[in-house]
Amino acid sequence: MSEKRPHIVIVGGGFAGANLTRRLQKRAKFADITLVSEESYTTFNPMLAEVVGATVFPEHVVAPLRATVGRARFVMGTVGNVDFGRKRLVCDTLKRAVEIEYDHLVLAFGNRARVDLIAGMAEHAVVLKTVGDAMHIRNLVLRRLAQIELETDSALRKCLGHFVVVGGGFSGVEVAGAVADSLREIRRYYPRVAAGELKVTLLQSVDRLLVELPCSLGEAAERSLTRRGVDVMTMTGASAIGARNVQLNDGRVLAAATTICTIGTTPNALMSRLTTLPTERGRIVCQADLSVAGADGVWAVGDCALIMNGDSGLAPPTAQFAIAEAKCLARNIVAKSRGRPTQPFMYRARGMMATVGHLKGVAKIFGIKLTGLPAWMLWRAYYLSQMPTLGRRLRIFVEWSWGMFFPPDITHFRFTRSHELLESDKEGVMPGQRAPTSALSAI
Ligand SMILES: Cc1cc2nc3c(=O)[nH]c(=O)nc-3n(C[C@H](O)[C@H](O)[C@H](O)COP(=O)(O)OP(=O)(O)OC[C@H]3O[C@@H](n4cnc5c(N)ncnc54)[C@H](O)[C@@H]3O)c2cc1C
Repeated sequence: MSEKRPHIVIVGGGFAGANLTRRLQKRAKFADITLVSEESYTTFNPMLAEVVGATVFPEHVVAPLRATVGRARFVMGTVGNVDFGRKRLVCDTLKRAVEIEYDHLVLAFGNRARVDLIAGMAEHAVVLKTVGDAMHIRNLVLRRLAQIELETDSALRKCLGHFVVVGGGFSGVEVAGAVADSLREIRRYYPRVAAGELKVTLLQSVDRLLVELPCSLGEAAERSLTRRGVDVMTMTGASAIGARNVQLNDGRVLAAATTICTIGTTPNALMSRLTTLPTERGRIVCQADLSVAGADGVWAVGDCALIMNGDSGLAPPTAQFAIAEAKCLARNIVAKSRGRPTQPFMYRARGMMATVGHLKGVAKIFGIKLTGLPAWMLWRAYYLSQMPTLGRRLRIFVEWSWGMFFPPDITHFRFTRSHELLESDKEGVMPGQRAPTSALSAI
């Protein structure tokens, strides 16, 4: 009699989940593997700032899961709850609930952007966490330039042209650089907008940028941004955000119509339903081998997990660590299934990198500090190497190289559908101005 094949279910197709699935489908031939994720692709989050700056297309920072998971099964759906006792999870797949049984369950569902850290942030600021966010910010930049062209009030023109980025960590530095470079490049297409009417301000609440990197690289990033016209304000935070202004914690007020917040994350709502799992600081507490105590067959990796990196302290929530954790977990699941001992997670970070705008970066790799173009090229080479399949890597290499030498694309994609056009035609307004009213629009 043949034994039932074990079923490994992975929740979340981000850096951790997608990498794990790819490894397991090669190494765990004895098992059936299912990846459940709410989107059909992995987002290369570190490249989102380049989408904002319109130097790469949104489709070039994602990798489709179905094309990369090999023999594993992919289910596009949102996991709503897990019954750890019966070893099954419930997943919503486009309005149909599906139950999936598991023998091993890997939780790799990441976290969400936090939108309530500053008064007015939810209503008036934009955040950067998804491809949708990046496309929205890119379109917002283009919309602001179009608005300035038609505005006659000079104070309002300056307010529309002022972009405030809150947070001087990796994302904030990358976004401020990307927006500044993109404004300089695309202004040529908006002849009625003067250079002096556009400004980017970066707010950082501590005394330097990129606190995760050595001081000299934080300073190099600040110099690079300042050279390109970004007003870097250290020791300055935002205390309230309005539709047309940002109030600073020292009482000053900046007139700015666009505020981009790159601060803070919040646990995924699924976390609050997994009440029997040990959690701390909104993350699932893992044991040394990435298993979760008290839940048979359950493991966790990536940003949703609290993981000790050997005896060097907590593993940081970064893409590099998510990939390393996936590698370790693939080995441990195979070992566990074969009755062999599992290994604790231990990883020595290779270094850290950040872009500071188009063709510029800062990096510390194997102890060596790099700035400018070499750091930027290294950064791109690393993320290119993480793209699945050679064909996709080649295609993206060509597309990225193209973007290095030509100006950003200023197409303002609005994805307007025909029924929206028909409705807006009736009222003589631009599509997207009104909430959909017909039954058709709900489809
Ligand atoms: C703008 C930005 C810039 C960044 N820059 C860097 C950088 O330069 N370097 C670096 O190392 N790190 C960077 N990071 C952090 C890095 O992206 C994360 O650490 C990494 O993505 C974590 O991987 P993960 O798989 O745990 O989570 P994610 O990559 O977030 O993936 C989680 C997946 O789970 C899915 N999911 C969520 N809930 C459910 C559910 N209920 N059911 C099914 N699926 C679900 C999501 O759709 C997603 O696909 C950046 C992050 C952001 C947002």
